[in-house]
Amino acid sequence: MVREFAGKMERAISGAENIVIVGHFNPDGDSVGSVTGMYYYLKELGKKAVVVLPSSYPEYLSFLDKDRDYLLFTKNPEKVAQAIGESDLIIGLDFNNLGRTEGVKNLFAASSAQKILIDHHPNPERSSFDLICSTVDTSSTCELLFYVLMETALVDNDIEKMPYRSAEGLATGMLTDTNNFKNSSIASTYNMASLLLKRGVSLDDLGKRVFGSYSESRMRLMGEMLRNQMVVLKDLNAAYMVLSKKIQEEYNYLQGDSEGFVNLPLLIEGVEVSALFTESDEFIRVSLRSQGGVSVNALSNRFFNGGGHERASGGRLFIPVDEVPAYFEKSLREFLDK
Ligand code: 5GP
Ligand code: MN
Repeated sequence: MVREFAGKMERAISGAENIVIVGHFNPDGDSVGSVTGMYYYLKELGKKAVVVLPSSYPEYLSFLDKDRDYLLFTKNPEKVAQAIGESDLIIGLDFNNLGRTEGVKNLFAASSAQKILIDHHPNPERSSFDLICSTVDTSSTCELLFYVLMETALVDNDIEKMPYRSAEGLATGMLTDTNNFKNSSIASTYNMASLLLKRGVSLDDLGKRVFGSYSESRMRLMGEMLRNQMVVLKDLNAAYMVLSKKIQEEYNYLQGDSEGFVNLPLLIEGVEVSALFTESDEFIRVSLRSQGGVSVNALSNRFFNGGGHERASGGRLFIPVDEVPAYFEKSLREFLDK
């Protein structure tokens, strides 16, 4: 599947003059990592390419945008519109429907450029793309793209020929989507890790940069959330935390500061579903994780205006923050039929 796709993708790339690479809203490590992997591959080919992200990335991922040339729609909508307007090929990464690109969606949909998608979410929106590489049998979009690039003529299954910055980007997204090899790692993930090490990418250093570079206030916020905000619902095998604006202000909250917090309650014996609700001006951001059999993708589709993966999904709520606990409990009870 990957080899055949790589050939078709290479033909599309060689026929294109202006390429735009698009990530998803609120980009995480897999989003910024995969656009970086593709960007430096295209640069190495001598192609004109622009990276577009629908909104800004957290500070801890800024090292991937080394030259600060990724266009953020929220900061630079005109430049994004111009880039997409001029493009003849658009490559979407790490999302399964155009809605995930938020403000970029209409520009993307209206463009007559050829459209490619590489992604690992279930049920991709096929009608929006001309060429799709999609599977859920991979740790991350970064892993999927890694094996696509390995099959290209430039890399030719020789890891030494993969551009270093591509390798570094792809390593980052693989590490973040697997939470440092704690979930979704399969045999091909470890094979990729081995090849990355051979290429000189230090997974130890990247892991430290991505998972172990807390500010003091972030560390204290984590303590606050676990000590005072986490609620465990024993009969539902679930736990949740609400990160209100009041607490955000108290701990000088910056974007990305609560990254990974949603995984923590899963460390409690018996907890199979975890939720983190983060208040913002427009809505309440929902983050869901599970272990065992519960599909938080289905849970989010039904109750939280979102989706994602079976065991990691997100969404939005448009209710006052103090109504969140009752809404979560009621929704989960109904979903689990308890
Ligand atoms: P996180 O909890 O880290 O924000 O998101 C986990 C996963 O859920 C993401 O990798 C993405 O696949 C998905 N996701 C997050 N937010 C949304 C959303 O608003 N809508 C949809 N459809 N998926 C989301
Ligand atoms: Mn992903």
